[in-house]
Amino acid sequence: MNTGIRLERPRPGVARVVLARSERRNAQNPALLKALDAAFLEAVADEAVKVIILAAEGPDFSSGHDLKGSFDLDGDPIATMHTRSDQGGIEGHFNFECEFYLGLCLRWRDIPKPTVAQVQGRVIAGGLMLVWPMDLVVAGENASFSDPVTAFGVNGVEYFTHLYEVGIRKAREMLYTGDAVDAAEAHRLGMVNHVVPEDQLEDFTLDLAERIAARPQFGLRLSKLSINQQLDAMGQRQSLESALAVHNLGHANNLVKHGTFVDPDGADMIRAAARRPGPGAG
Ligand code: ZN
Repeated sequence: MNTGIRLERPRPGVARVVLARSERRNAQNPALLKALDAAFLEAVADEAVKVIILAAEGPDFSSGHDLKGSFDLDGDPIATMHTRSDQGGIEGHFNFECEFYLGLCLRWRDIPKPTVAQVQGRVIAGGLMLVWPMDLVVAGENASFSDPVTAFGVNGVEYFTHLYEVGIRKAREMLYTGDAVDAAEAHRLGMVNHVVPEDQLEDFTLDLAERIAARPQFGLRLSKLSINQQLDAMGQRQSLESALAVHNLGHANNLVKHGTFVDPDGADMIRAAARRPGPGAG
């Protein structure tokens, strides 16, 4: 069965989880997110694996959430205790987003081994929610990062770490315009560790992962734990929970006004922005 996820072991000590749904530009639905979590878990459980790379097939890393997908919790939760999404109103949708969006992102942020995102092409909206929870980011020169979802009448994506990633001014501009940040600018802002030509992206990321994998695993884990605890001491987890609640106020408003969770005009606005030349071209 093609789950849209592949787990590889390309080098000693290095596992690589690959988004393999390129025919849908690696759009995410619950089945893909569950398969991704299972692959991470398998890599964590394998003592031979020291470092985990998250990579993607095809021209684009991820086009975000698959809005044609379902919003059913469908089975046992992984990240939360929410088991129902059928309450109607905004209640069930909030449960869904707590589990599949914020819950899984925080769970992956806390994977007890170093993680590296290997990114090419576009990372749009929910795509950021796969890149940002990773520890390091290596980007191809053509990579770009955008969150256009204010067009849907919500605050931004459900893992609202924009200002930790790009700083306050740029976070505002990203959200207010929906414009993409290109790889060079992402590097300048400290959002990505390295930018390399596309034909060197895989090897560069593997070399970096292998260098990390040579160090003692418990030291790496403790280093990661301290950084994540400091992020939480800075308020990251609490502010993410607050932002998700505000995000669902947006969904609730759309539900009352339009009968759908997102403003139906948003998709046209996002497509038009993607066609604009200049920084918005993404
Ligand atoms: Zn949402």
